This record gives sequence, C-alpha cells and structure tokens, in this order.
Amino acid sequence: MMAGRTPEVLVVGLGPAGSRAAAAAAEAGRSVVAVDRRRAAGHPVQCAEFVPAMIGQELRALDSVIRQRIRAMATFVEDRPPDLWDNFPGHMIDRAAFDRSLVEAARQADADCRFGAQIEGFARDGTARLSDGGEIRPRLIVGADGPRSAVGRAAGRVNTELVETRQVTVPLNQPHEATNIFLSAEITGGYGWLFPKGDVANLGVGVVPSARTRLKPLLEDLHRRLAEEGRLGAEVLGHTGGAIPVGGLLEPRGRLGEVPVLLAGDAAGLANPVTGAGINAAVISGGLAGRAAADWLGGAAGALDDYAEEIEELFKGALDRAVARRREILRCYEDAPGPDAAALRRGWIAYPEYWAA
Ligand SMILES: Cc1cc2nc3c(=O)[nH]c(=O)nc-3n(C[C@H](O)[C@H](O)[C@H](O)COP(=O)(O)OP(=O)(O)OC[C@H]3O[C@@H](n4cnc5c(N)ncnc54)[C@H](O)[C@@H]3O)c2cc1C
Repeated sequence: MMAGRTPEVLVVGLGPAGSRAAAAAAEAGRSVVAVDRRRAAGHPVQCAEFVPAMIGQELRALDSVIRQRIRAMATFVEDRPPDLWDNFPGHMIDRAAFDRSLVEAARQADADCRFGAQIEGFARDGTARLSDGGEIRPRLIVGADGPRSAVGRAAGRVNTELVETRQVTVPLNQPHEATNIFLSAEITGGYGWLFPKGDVANLGVGVVPSARTRLKPLLEDLHRRLAEEGRLGAEVLGHTGGAIPVGGLLEPRGRLGEVPVLLAGDAAGLANPVTGAGINAAVISGGLAGRAAADWLGGAAGALDDYAEEIEELFKGALDRAVARRREILRCYEDAPGPDAAALRRGWIAYPEYWAA
C-alpha cells in the first residue's frame, strides 16, 4: 500500500475508539488516515455486545444496530439464587454492524479509512511502518489499537494486566431482558456472563491469564449447567474471545520522537477492570482524542494536556475503584481457597458493598 498523502493525523485501529477519533478530527477539517489490520470493519467480533443505554447520548444513530433491550442484571453468586438489579438499562447490539457504522461515519467526514493495513512499528522520528513496506509520517498519532496497542508500547504505555476470555453464542430457549452474571471463586479474576440477544445468547468466561487453560472447561461447565436447566440449547453457534485490559488508566498522552501521541479506548486502559465493559469509554475517548488532535493542529498548544486531564476526570475514579476491588478479590487466593460469597459481592458492581468506602 502506498502512503498516499501525508496526513496530519494517523489513527491506528478502527474499532470504536479509532473510528470516533478519525471522524472527530476529520469533521474539524484535518486530514486523517486511519488504518486497521483487520480485513473488514468489526470482523471478527470479539465482544459480548452489551452497551449501557447512556451511550445513546454519544451516538444518535444507534437504533439500526440494537438487537434487543436490556432492563436488568441478575447476579448469581456461586450456586445461590440470583440477586436482581432491576434498573440496569442498556442494549444488546450487533457489534459488527456497530463498528461498520462508525467507520462509515468517519468516511463520511472524509477520513481515509484503510483495512488490511497493519502497523509494524515506528521509527525514532515517529514514522509509522506498515506491514506492506509503506510508511506514514503524520504530525500526530492517535493510538486506538486495543489492549495490546503497538502505539502504546512504542510510547512506553503498556497494559500490563489483562483478562483472557472465551465466549460462545448459543440458542436461548427462554428470551429475557436481564444480563446474567456468574461469580465464583473458580473463575479467577473474572466472571461468567450470559447476555441475551433475541433467540440467542452470548455466553462467556474471563479469567486471569495464568488460568487461561481453564477457560474451556469453565465455559463448557457453565453451558452444560444452563442447558440442563433448559435455559440454553446445547448447540454452539459461534466462538470468540480476546483480551481485556484490567490494570486501569494509562497516561493517555506520549510522544514518538517529535510526534505527539494520544491513546484512546482499550489502548489507554479504559475498559472497566471489573465488568470488562469498554465500548462506551472507547467511543467517548476516541471522540475527545480526535477533537484534541484537531485543536492542537489548529494551534491550541494546551489541547493535548487538556485531553489527558479530561480522560482522568471522566474515567479515573471508576477505574481506580474497579482496580482496587479486583485486587481485593485476587488477594483472597494468596493464602486461602479464594474469595467467599461476601468477597465476591464486594467485588461486583451490582452490590452496595462495591460502592462503599
Ligand atoms: C470477549 C469480550 C467481550 C466483551 N464484551 C463487552 C461488552 O459486552 N460491552 C463492552 O462495553 N465491552 C466489551 N468488551 C470490551 C470491548 O470490546 C472493548 O473495550 C472495545 O472494543 C474497545 O474499543 P477500542 O476501539 O479501544 O479497541 P478495539 O475494538 O480492540 O479496536 C482496536 C483495533 O485496532 C486494530 N489493531 C490492533 N493492532 C493494530 C496494528 N498494529 N495495526 C493496525 N491495526 C491494529 C485491531 O484490529 C482492532 O480493530 C469485550 C471484550 C471481549 C474480549
């Protein structure tokens, strides 16, 4: 691939953070090239596809990708009856269509969005090297390239703590409107989920990387149990997985040579370390990064510091709490069999203990 024009802004990654950054910078009149190593937007889907209802404040054109409404959350602690949180509004979306629509919006704003284009690394002066041998030397880089961000690594900002996941899509025998959360000492450093999406459900498990080999048996056990209860079909309609950053906020601005870098979304560690939810934060931070890039290019010298401050204001409190709660749970494994029911509840957002001082 030829580098084409030298853009003012290079956005790496066209997930929700990158698409929003590309759109925002291009809408402000800046020239933008955005690259993604995937062959097509949103494929493969690596997501359980739940978004909070408030994401509608950021994205007006959400309706076409919503597949069902969510009203509540049911939390199962070990094998006890579920606790219902009946005010948990959100949507199950078609994540591939969601990502595609955000890329389309960036293209409409005149961002040059390229797929099948992987960034291999950066020269000392900030020139990006593409896997096809091409180079791009922008004036500013937005790293929106996910949990294992190459941009972040080059700028010295690395998500050191991750959760590994495995998910299947399965038939849902009794459609309902509550996300189901399964907390257990067996699911180390993560949890199980069943998110209903019409007549199917996304059923998954996430754990600390050292327990990765347990993902398959844990997920199979959960699937078997729920199938025996008659809630799910035994068939597996699809598989996915992926990493989630769980170490909390990284410094979202840096530098490659003289070229400023802004990190957004998972690349900045914005996914929630307890719930794993990161779509909303990716959308918000991407938009802010794109606007900050445009403002800086327009001469606003403080725009990049303002971005870092705004990210901290918006996300740090919630992320710090989640990091602390997750660490409390992980400490329970140090000299004991693991967290008991009370510790599991304190580590989950549906319980008042989670929000206590
Ligand atoms: C199994 C699973 C379930 C999840 N469920 C939910 C959920 O229900 N709700 C929720 O809110 N969040 C969920 N998340 C988290 C959510 O998917 C992420 O927080 C979100 O995708 C972050 O968006 P992003 O744009 O920052 O990164 P991504 O969506 O990861 O996008 C990064 C993009 O960068 C590209 N890229 C990476 N490296 C390079 C490179 N070197 N060169 C070029 N391109 C590159 C990738 O191909 C990718 O398209 C889940 C995550 C997993 C793994």
